[in-house]
Amino acid sequence: MAEITESAVRTVLETVIDPATARSVVASGMVSGIATRGGHVAVTLDVDPARGPALEPLRLACEQAVRAMPGVLSATAVMTAERAAPPPPPMPSARPARGGHGHGPGHAPGGGRIDVPGVKHIIAIASGKGGVGKSTTAVNLALGLAANGVATGLLDADIYGPSMPRMLAVKEKPESADGKQLKPIERYGLRTMSIGYIVNEETPMIWRGPMVSSALEQMLRDVQWGELDVLVVDMPPGTGDAQLTLAQRVALAGAVIVSTPQDIALVDARKGLNMFRKVAVPVLGIVENMSYFLCPKCGERSEIFGHGGAHEEADKLGVPFLGEIPLHLDIRTTSDSGHPIVAAQPDSPHAQAYRNIAGRVWKQLSANQRGPRSAPRIVMQ
Ligand code: ADP
Repeated sequence: MAEITESAVRTVLETVIDPATARSVVASGMVSGIATRGGHVAVTLDVDPARGPALEPLRLACEQAVRAMPGVLSATAVMTAERAAPPPPPMPSARPARGGHGHGPGHAPGGGRIDVPGVKHIIAIASGKGGVGKSTTAVNLALGLAANGVATGLLDADIYGPSMPRMLAVKEKPESADGKQLKPIERYGLRTMSIGYIVNEETPMIWRGPMVSSALEQMLRDVQWGELDVLVVDMPPGTGDAQLTLAQRVALAGAVIVSTPQDIALVDARKGLNMFRKVAVPVLGIVENMSYFLCPKCGERSEIFGHGGAHEEADKLGVPFLGEIPLHLDIRTTSDSGHPIVAAQPDSPHAQAYRNIAGRVWKQLSANQRGPRSAPRIVMQ
């Protein structure tokens, strides 16, 4: 069988036209790399991060065109934002007073602070590493806010592994009335958006730092969030450059850090805390997830990981401790089946624990709230 050459692949890619420019991906300089091995071909497309997920059909078209070449066994096209990426904005030296939503001297020059008109407070739910229950906390905290009368939205910014399609059982694609802005998908009284609603789960994608930032920017700016008291942003896990850029660029009113009680997770939580401190975003507090094991059969409580570590750590670091959530099968099964526990079992003690955490978060946010608008009433039990 004839060897597949780079130039043959390039020739085929010349037939793939970017509708935005009416030029081929080759002619517009988008193809930054072609690698072939046996019948396997990998193409790298260097793209303008501002166009973000809108380029997904073009990426698929490239794959299809290459896959159709005789002798090609597999074809993968990945998008990067290497050349087109603007440099990350410098650290703001000062930030506006809280509640100011990014107007004034805190604006990062160049990138500009991402603000959402109509949304009073944007808060980030973050963790130092993956798998600690950040997304579970984000969705149940958002539901806890909504249950208490706070108009709440939920944005899944975990672009590497969006979990909202699963946690909220969303199968439909968001619609757009005007072809410009997407309508958020409503679930359990929350307005929600996730990159996972738009992009197929199996789609391989390399979202480099600037790309993550631009996708998030689009999901903040190009979604009809409407009037909201709080927009809860489920951040990508970890404390790398992409996360730092998000923490810096989004006009955050505060951050909630989720940790498990193990020492190692707490070290990661401290990294998360330092990241927000670096960009002067107030940390609203730490949630200890999988705090203790509550036996679903006998109700016995076992402190598997030496519970209480996050509370001590919060005290040591001078940030509020927002509460603890046990490791419980119902929490896992409800969120993994698309009916998070605060919505599915509102009378359960777990739902109450999340509502209490939501109450503590709201108390801090509303303390910073200006203006005559009366705050929704939070019931703490
Ligand atoms: P992260 O966002 O930090 O990666 P997830 O929220 O996706 O973590 O949680 C990872 C897994 O752990 C999921 O299957 C979730 O259902 C489960 N999980 C999270 N918190 C709890 C808990 N308190 N009790 C039981 N299972 C949990």
